[in-house]
Parts: sequence; structure tokens; C-alpha cells
Amino acid sequence: MRYDVAIIGSGPGGLSAAINAKIRNKNIIVFGNSNLSEKVVKAPKINNYLGFYDINGENLKNMFKSHIDKMGIEINEERVNNVYAMGDYFSIMVNEKMYEASTVILATGVEYTKPIKGEEEFVGKGVGYCATCDASLYKGKKVAIVGYNSEAEEEANFLMEIASKVYYIPMYKNEYDVDENIEIIKDIPIEVQGDTKANKLVLRNTDLDVDGIFFIKNSISPKYLVPGLEVEDGHIKVDRNMKTNINGCFAAGDCVGKPYQYIKAAGEGQVAALNAVSYLDKK
Ligand code: FAD
Repeated sequence: MRYDVAIIGSGPGGLSAAINAKIRNKNIIVFGNSNLSEKVVKAPKINNYLGFYDINGENLKNMFKSHIDKMGIEINEERVNNVYAMGDYFSIMVNEKMYEASTVILATGVEYTKPIKGEEEFVGKGVGYCATCDASLYKGKKVAIVGYNSEAEEEANFLMEIASKVYYIPMYKNEYDVDENIEIIKDIPIEVQGDTKANKLVLRNTDLDVDGIFFIKNSISPKYLVPGLEVEDGHIKVDRNMKTNINGCFAAGDCVGKPYQYIKAAGEGQVAALNAVSYLDKK
């Protein structure tokens, strides 16, 4: 089945895109999570979202949730690893699964975590952002996973079935639900080192000699998510119609630039959806 619009992200940008595309009778799929967005839930007090003075993030999230529920919009709780432009449609990869859509709206937010030294240099050469996608490369090998959220635990467990050794470096405080054979290291990653390929993760207190290193973050840098996407100063480059350099691919919210604000994300989500709809109607 090919969707009309695939929306990646369930924050205000993605959800606003979803309701607007749905109102125009488009067949949509929204990727995200049931909590919608950490950046909504965690806000202690919001005074600048029109119509909701003095609301807190949890309540705003509940209002968003009730809105999409009433419109019959469901969130597909899956993390998109890659989006490939195939000409007149897009392939959306979720681990071993693939979805197809005629247009894509990227509303993935921004990741505040800066890459560590050497991380970007070795991407594709021993450094990756999706352990489950690249697991087969590490059969019988040693791998480190730097997890920025508990979803990374699943990736570590999956890799443990294939790799000979998995180190798990959690960047959050929690209980860690990982396989007993995984070595948990509570330390701070400083640098990725290597020659033609990455072979060492330098932590503040120790070094790990490994064949691969994965950084599992809340959102992946857009240029790795969508190969060929034009990015400027860390943000997806769009025009006033929220159109990216790839035909049929639109973007909205924090991922396209500052100010990082709810209502700006929601407004851009609407513009992106309406332009995706007119792109579809002209096809
Ligand atoms: P986000 O809200 O970040 O949502 C992106 C979603 O996409 C996330 O759920 C993420 O998990 C999901 N996602 C990312 N990549 C993928 C993928 N590959 N596959 C599937 N899902 C994916 N703004 C205001 O206007 N007023 C305020 O008072 C305010 N207070 C804030 C307080 C705090 C503590 C914080 C952190 C932020 C605050 N902000 C405030 C800023 C606001 O949160 C952001 O500007 C807004 O949430 C951006 O919306 P977005 O839809 O672009 O992205």
C-alpha cells in the first residue's frame, strides 16, 4: 500500500501536518511515539501557545492527543531509520520493514546532543545511528552503543544476538533493561578514533577497542535520515512552502530552524501539509 503523505515526527509540527492532510482526505501515516514529544511533555509552563494560556506541557500534550484521537489519526510507534527518494515516491525504512508514500513531511525536531569529536568523520566507516539496520556487519565483532534514551536498550539487545561483545554506554539515568551479557559502562564518550575505520571509543575514564560504534539519539541528523537532503547550518533547507530540495519532500518545525517554538512548528506543519496536498493533486 502506498500512502499519500508520510509524516515523520509526532510533535506539534508533525501533528499539525497530520490533521491538515487528513482534513483534505489524504491517506496518511504518522511515525512517532505515544508520548507525542518529550519537548512538549517536559515544558513546565507554556504562555505563548494561542488559546492555551498558562498550560503545562503534559496538558498541552493531552489536548493534542484528544484532537488527533477525535480525527481518527493514529501514531505508528516506529522509528524511521532512512527515507529514500525513489523518483515519484519515497521508501521509508523502519529496521527491516519498508513503507511507501508519495510525499514525505519531515518533522523530526532537533537533537541538542552535539556529535563528539570524530563521530561525523567516521559515519559509515564504523560509526552508525541504527544498530538494528547495520547489525549484520558486526557478526562476531565488538560494538559499543551510546544510548541517549531507553529505546537504545532494544538496539543493544538485538546486537548482542550477533556481536561477540556489546558495551552499553547509557547517557541517561534509569534502570537498564539489557541482556546480562552486555557490559554497561557509566562514563562519558569523548572521541571516536580510528584510521580508515573507527576502532576506538575514548571515554573520560577508559578506552574501548571496538569494531563499531552506534550513537542512538532522539533524532537522527536529517542528512543521514534522508540521503541527498540539503541541510544548512544543521537545519533542513526549505522555501516558504516548506519544500526541501527533493521533490515531494517537505519539512516543518524545529528541524528547519529557529525559533524553536510550538506554534511556529504547528504553523509550518500546516504549510507543509497543504503544499504536499497540492503537489499530490497536480501529479
Ligand atoms: P518535536 O516536538 O521535537 O517533535 C519531534 C518528534 O519526532 C519527537 O517525538 C521525536 O521522537 C520524533 N522523531 C524524531 N525522529 C524520528 C524518527 N526518525 N522516526 C520517528 N519519530 C521521530 N516552545 C514554545 O513555544 N513555548 C514554550 O513555552 C516552550 N517551552 C519548552 C520547554 C522545554 C523544557 C523544551 C525542551 C522546549 C520548549 N519549547 C517551547 C520548544 C518546543 O518544545 C519545540 O519548539 C517544539 O516541540 C518543536 O516541535 P517539532 O514538532 O518541530 O518537534
